[in-house]
Amino acid sequence: MSVALAADHVGVFFCTVTDEAGELVEATQEPVAFLAGHNQIVPGLEAALLGKEAGASFDVTLAPEDAYGAHNGRAPLRVHRRDLPKDQPVEKGRTIWIPTPKGEARAYVVDVKGAYVTIDGNHPLAGRTLRFQGVLLRVREATSEEKVHGHAHGMDGVAHDH
Ligand code: ZN
Repeated sequence: MSVALAADHVGVFFCTVTDEAGELVEATQEPVAFLAGHNQIVPGLEAALLGKEAGASFDVTLAPEDAYGAHNGRAPLRVHRRDLPKDQPVEKGRTIWIPTPKGEARAYVVDVKGAYVTIDGNHPLAGRTLRFQGVLLRVREATSEEKVHGHAHGMDGVAHDH
């Protein structure tokens, strides 16, 4: 029985990301599992995958707004680790959520040096038009736990490293 990817289903894919010059900028090292409808992957890629079944290939070129967002023009910020929320792991490459007067803002950890952390409101690939090519490997219904958490627990819904 094949299942088409829809909200609250888990999709598993691998892909490569290239820029407008055809240069490779990112490639999945292992299959990526995500819960559809929960902002887990870039919006344009999710839109391209919805309705597809396991085995389908995809090839989409996305404007920044549909990929990692437009660049907001602001430079990265160096802050002291003690000023960041304590409940999130602060490691290079991680995304953290920072409380602001306007609500939680997403920030990317660019660098960690001792007690100081450089964060950026822009994803490293913000402002770029990117091409995503890959294969949707698996589509399954989400477990009830995944739906509560709002993210996928790996290929089979059993991974629990958080
Ligand atoms: Zn979870």
